[in-house]
Amino acid sequence: MTDAFISTAARRFLRYVTFDTQSDDQSDTYPSTAKQLALLNRLVDELKEMGVADAAIDQHGYVMASIPPTPGKEHVPAIGFIAHVDTSPEMSGAGVRPVVHRNWNGEDIVFPDDPEVVLRLADDPHLSEQIGHDIITASGATLLGADNKAGVAEIVGAAEYMMGHPEILHGRIRLGFTPDEEIGAGTKHFDVERFGAKYAYTLDGETLGQIESESFSADTMVLRFLGRNTHPGFAKGRMINAIKLAAAFIERLPKDSLSPETTEGYEGYVHPYVLEASVDRTVVRTLVRDFRTAGLAEKQRALAELAREVVAGHPGARVEIEVLEYYRNMREVLDGHPEIADNAREAIRRAGLEPHSRPIRGGTDGSRLSFMGLPTPNLFTGEHNFHSRLEWVSAQDMDKAAEVIVELCRVWAGAS
Ligand SMILES: [Zn+2]
Repeated sequence: MTDAFISTAARRFLRYVTFDTQSDDQSDTYPSTAKQLALLNRLVDELKEMGVADAAIDQHGYVMASIPPTPGKEHVPAIGFIAHVDTSPEMSGAGVRPVVHRNWNGEDIVFPDDPEVVLRLADDPHLSEQIGHDIITASGATLLGADNKAGVAEIVGAAEYMMGHPEILHGRIRLGFTPDEEIGAGTKHFDVERFGAKYAYTLDGETLGQIESESFSADTMVLRFLGRNTHPGFAKGRMINAIKLAAAFIERLPKDSLSPETTEGYEGYVHPYVLEASVDRTVVRTLVRDFRTAGLAEKQRALAELAREVVAGHPGARVEIEVLEYYRNMREVLDGHPEIADNAREAIRRAGLEPHSRPIRGGTDGSRLSFMGLPTPNLFTGEHNFHSRLEWVSAQDMDKAAEVIVELCRVWAGAS
C-alpha cells in the first residue's frame, strides 16, 4: 500500500484550519469556547456523509464515532484514534489563511502577511526532508493550527479511506475528537466507557515515524510564604516581608541543574513560574516534573526542606505547602501492554518509515487517558513549530500519518 496511498487529509486540513477553535484558560464553561463546537459539529456531518452512521457530539462537545469491524473481525479489540480540535491560547487562531507551497524547492518561505516571518531550511532540520513536498503554512498573522488539526484531518482521512475500501481488514475502530486540550482539560469529561475502545492512540506528535510512550509525571507545588505586615514606619523588629522569604527560597534553588533551562532528555526539573507577591503573603507556584513518579516526591521533599530552612530564620514566619497532582507518566501503564507500541512500530514500518521514540517533556491527553483506563500513546502527525506563526506541515507527511492509521488497524486485525 506504500506508494499508492493518497488520502483526503490535506484537503480536509485546509478547511479545518479556517475554523477559529482557540481555547481559553480563563473561561468557566466547557468547552472553554463555543466556537470549537462549529468544527466539532462539522466533523459529525463529514463523518455521516462518508457513512460513519453513529457519529455524534455529546453535551460537552466530544465527538465520537465508529467504523464497524469487517466481517469475521468482530473479536479484534476495539482501537481508538483521538485528536483535539482546539488551538493554543498563546497565539491568535482567528482568520487563519493557509498557504500551500507546492513542490517546495528549499527556498526561504516568506509569509505574505508579515515579511518578517520567514521559514528557513537552515533553521529547521526537519525541513531538509521536505524538498519536493507541498508545505502548508499560515500567512504570518496567526498560527496554522496543525497542532492538532493535522491529526484531526489524518484520522478523518483514514476513516474515509477505510469506509471506501471494505477489503481492508480491521476490527471495530473508534474515533474521538476533543476540545480544550491546550488548556489541560481535554480529557475532563472524556467518557472512557462510552468510547469503548480497549486501546487508543492520540495523533498529536511531530516527526514522521515517531511513537511516544513516555511523558513526564507532573505536579504543581504551591508554596505560600506567610509574613507579618505592619506600617513601614513602625516596622522595626516586627515586620516579616513574605516577598523576601519567597526571594530567599528561589535564590536557594540549584543554579545549574534541575531547571527547564538546564535539563533535557530524561532529566526532571522544578520550575517556579508564577509569583503572587505581597508583604503579608507571597505564593510561589512551582512546576515539578520527573519521568519517575517517585522522583516527584523526592523533588517535593527537597523543595519543602528549602522553604522550611528559609522561614526557620524568621520567627513568626510560616510556609504552607500544597501539592496538586497534574498527570502521570503514561509509561507506567503502557509498559503493561507492549503490543500497543509494537503494533504501531510495525504499522510505521509497513508505511515505509523508520519508527523512533523519545520521551515527551510534557504531557498529552494520553497521559491522563492511560490512567483513566484507556492506554494511549502518541503518534506523529507531521506538525512542526507548535503554537507559533512558523507552524508548518506537509501534505505528504499527512498522507503518511493517515496511512499509518490504516496499517495499524490492519496490524491489530492480524492482516499481513
Ligand atoms: Zn496538540
